[in-house]
Amino acid sequence: MMQYQRSSALFNEAKKVIPGGVNSPVRAFKAVGGTPIFLTHAKGAYLYDEDGNRYIDYIASWGPMILGHAHPKVIDAIKSRADKGTSYGIPTELETQIAHLALSMVPNMEQIRFVNSGTEACMSAVRLARGFTGRDKIIKFAGCYHGHADAFLIQAGSGAVTFGSPNSPGVTAGTAQDTLLARYNDLDQVTDIFEANPEQIAAIIVEPVAGNMGCILPDEGFLEGLRSLCDLHGAVLIFDEVMTGFRLAAGGAQERLGVRADMVTYGKVIGGGLPVGAFAARKEIMDFLAPVGPVYQAGTLSGNPLAMSAGLAQLQLLQQHPQVYTSLDKKTEYLHQEMIPLLDRKGIAYQINRLGSMMSAHFTDSPVVDFASAAKGNNESFKKYFHGMLAQGVYLPPSAFESYFLNDAITQKDLEQTLEAFSKTLTRL
Ligand SMILES: *Cc1c(COP(=O)(O)O)cnc(C)c1O
Repeated sequence: MMQYQRSSALFNEAKKVIPGGVNSPVRAFKAVGGTPIFLTHAKGAYLYDEDGNRYIDYIASWGPMILGHAHPKVIDAIKSRADKGTSYGIPTELETQIAHLALSMVPNMEQIRFVNSGTEACMSAVRLARGFTGRDKIIKFAGCYHGHADAFLIQAGSGAVTFGSPNSPGVTAGTAQDTLLARYNDLDQVTDIFEANPEQIAAIIVEPVAGNMGCILPDEGFLEGLRSLCDLHGAVLIFDEVMTGFRLAAGGAQERLGVRADMVTYGKVIGGGLPVGAFAARKEIMDFLAPVGPVYQAGTLSGNPLAMSAGLAQLQLLQQHPQVYTSLDKKTEYLHQEMIPLLDRKGIAYQINRLGSMMSAHFTDSPVVDFASAAKGNNESFKKYFHGMLAQGVYLPPSAFESYFLNDAITQKDLEQTLEAFSKTLTRL
């Protein structure tokens, strides 16, 4: 039996001075109950907590640690850079190096601007799309997450689905008016929205493979349809590749699924575990950005040398070892395939969605294709599942609405151990 005394005590202490004890809500285990673990360190595929427990990690810091934790090359890059000072607010060659490398890895993007988070990347991309088109409204899909900027914290209103309403106090009704909501995988609805708002839509922002309502794949033709609608109506197609970028392939979802966006946002993997986001587009669009163009965007710590070193080192490793992607795919596919007979034997209703090294399990008998179908999952089963796995040293995302992210340090032995834990956990569901 695992002990969590120290983590519990630290959580209680944290709650006194940090709202909810955490600096990002999902870490608090609210969706699954119980007390979050506090970590001392992580190495390779493993997390180590304050009570001396070890876990096989299936979230990889929500995506960034694709090569496993504390990869020696990434750590060396950070360490040797730190000696030279940690921030200047003055350009370095490093920024150009990572820009060149990132652009060479992804299709059809000509320029890139670095920021400090995925939130900033998406917020800035939307502002730039609005400036470029001279239009105000954007289309987003229910259940897609693009960070916590006001324009994205919008849910379906009570009336027509397409009129958004704020889903957090503090977001104004005025802001909500400019975000039109559609169902993921529902092209007809997007067509209707365009028709109802002629020449008003600046951009569609979409996770090309959704990872924030579990892992949800785009239906055949969905992304292609968005591409055509944007072309037809002069809107900018923004792929939010904060999760999928440099993960589903070196060139992200654009490469893997063969659909080209006008603008792409990055985060997570691109920073090698340091706070980095980025947005990229063809030069014609990026020319609208300050200081070249009129659309303002800035950041004191943007392009920070430590963060750029970590990101550069990780991207270099991915570029030099493209077999990482096949290896990650194989590991994830193995896990997926081996889970199926165990679930079938248990006779429980389930869906497993997967693409590459992103995957999620849902306890429901209907296909999970959008937010509404993801929400049908049995959360009581999910809670037991999560805690059953945790107690056996497997760390899964603490919410049914999150994707697993495999890291390449996970070994065959780790997968076997995970499946053994899975089998035992199922008996208790
Ligand atoms: C994580 C995420 C973001 C937000 O990135 P932060 O670095 O947490 O601000 C945006 N979009 C997607 C698809 C994400 O998964």
